[in-house]
Amino acid sequence: MAADKQLPAIGVIGAGTMGSGIALVALTAGAKVILQDPYPAMLEKAAAYIKKFLEKKDRAALLENLTLTDSLEAFAPAGLVIEAALEQLELKKEIFTKLEAVCAPDAILATNTSTLSVTAVAATTQRPQRVAGMHFFNPAPVLPLVEVVRAAQTSQATLERLVELTEALGKTPVVTGDTPGFIVNRVARPFYGEALRLLGEGVAGYEVIDQIVEGGGFKMGPFKLMDLIGIDINAGAMRSMYEQSFGEPRYKPHWIQMQKLAEGALGRKTGKGFYAYNADGQLTGPSHLDHEYGQPEATQRSVAGPPVAPAEGLVLISEGTWAPGLADICQQAGYSVASKPQKGQEPIACFMVAGRNEGAEEILRWYDQNLPVDTPLIAQCVDMTLAEMRRWVSHTQRLMGFDGLFFASSSIATTIHSSIPAEKYLAVMDLFGNLGRFQLSVSDSPGLVLPRIVCQIINEAMFMSQDMRGSLNVTKFETPSEEFSARYGLDVRFPIDKAMKLGVNYPYGPIEWCELIGYDKVLAVLDHLYAEYHEERYRACVLLREWARRG
Ligand code: NAD
Repeated sequence: MAADKQLPAIGVIGAGTMGSGIALVALTAGAKVILQDPYPAMLEKAAAYIKKFLEKKDRAALLENLTLTDSLEAFAPAGLVIEAALEQLELKKEIFTKLEAVCAPDAILATNTSTLSVTAVAATTQRPQRVAGMHFFNPAPVLPLVEVVRAAQTSQATLERLVELTEALGKTPVVTGDTPGFIVNRVARPFYGEALRLLGEGVAGYEVIDQIVEGGGFKMGPFKLMDLIGIDINAGAMRSMYEQSFGEPRYKPHWIQMQKLAEGALGRKTGKGFYAYNADGQLTGPSHLDHEYGQPEATQRSVAGPPVAPAEGLVLISEGTWAPGLADICQQAGYSVASKPQKGQEPIACFMVAGRNEGAEEILRWYDQNLPVDTPLIAQCVDMTLAEMRRWVSHTQRLMGFDGLFFASSSIATTIHSSIPAEKYLAVMDLFGNLGRFQLSVSDSPGLVLPRIVCQIINEAMFMSQDMRGSLNVTKFETPSEEFSARYGLDVRFPIDKAMKLGVNYPYGPIEWCELIGYDKVLAVLDHLYAEYHEERYRACVLLREWARRG
């Protein structure tokens, strides 16, 4: 069936960023669109944007299908109305009450809210069973994902129809329950939250954190992304999640965000956030000449230069599983690899890649006692701090830390600077350069940068998964058809992965990532963070613990 036959007339409320984008999506899918906004200037701006886009695609004829209006009365013929007015609960409630009086009884009424309760909006109507959330992502014409949000009252028929309509609009639906932040905004919280904590604790500067995160496969580092979204919008989402969850520590807003708000440095739109921007919105450098928030001087030492030493000689790599792929990378680069020193040959460096539970202490002590005193010992410190390991060796000056867990999958080697002599340090930089990695140093801290951020994202996905399971029991939904269950059911294994990849371009879905890293390792990182900080924020979800036990 052609899209235009499937699609009823579609009403869009609010002609701002999202409303104009959603109207464009519906027009290009072949629907008749009624776009409403009380402010004529907003309607004009939206119409100009839509016209420009359609003309560029040689589809200007579709403009005939667009009706602009300042009145809700115009929605009488609509089979679906998508509300994208301001993010204010009272305003949305008022709009839905009025809308219900105008629309046909079987019209579906959807809200594009990012953070408000769809259930609370539905509760103001006489027929809440036909109300649901339809959460598009910005820019709506570009991003494929739509979270179809089931409020407590949404009927199965409404949900199934809305999923069908979303597909007919050319979008990919993911069904989610009505919990704060739905899937994407919730599971993405630690991406910003942990990055802000790392910056606030002086572990690394924001540019270094961004580089490490981008090196790990994310399209944009957390600070660049906060600048792009708007620090006020991002902090608002954080605050809303924190309030709606009655103070869940994982969502606690950070003082750095509040300071940026007080300063009026809101990101790209104000020309200054974490970075500075020119009038065209292009990044021109850090926002301050002097570095903020007490970044340790050593974190400024950034990338390794081009390799100068030839890639030859022996690299020792211990027993252990915390640096998957490292041995292959060393061999491919031209080094010979062994776990024990060979007679008469002085190793360039020794990587200690065992985890705490794999006998890291004993292994490190052995190398310390049996290697020449100036052989650099580069120890993985994802589930242990370097400070702890310092107590295990006599020759502390040769000890360095590194993130083994993400070494192979990342273009950057995260290391912990140490008191290693300059000449040996340069040799290690050459080694990393020959292994194809830029080296960035950070301060000793639990979970370092990428493991801390990624494992907290995975943990959030586990909590989300648990809530999705639970919400099925709370609301006792009508039984969905088998086909629907198979494709969109809340118990389908990984809608979260799909949402995170399509909604925010993550390199892997969090659950998929957890399987790649290993449930036991993710749990070990979280337990290490919890043990060091003694904060609820780092408690591992029991679902993760259960899956780790099951192996
Ligand atoms: P916006 O400020 O760009 O647009 C809001 C529009 O609503 C404006 O045109 C305004 O004139 C109009 N409006 C104000 N009062 C109204 C009323 N009484 N009736 C109808 N329209 C009214 O905001 P936006 O970014 O487009 O966000 C709109 C909604 O979409 C919010 O609920 C927001 O949370 C959600 N959302 C935003 C994004 C995003 O990235 N911007 C992403 C997903 C969802």
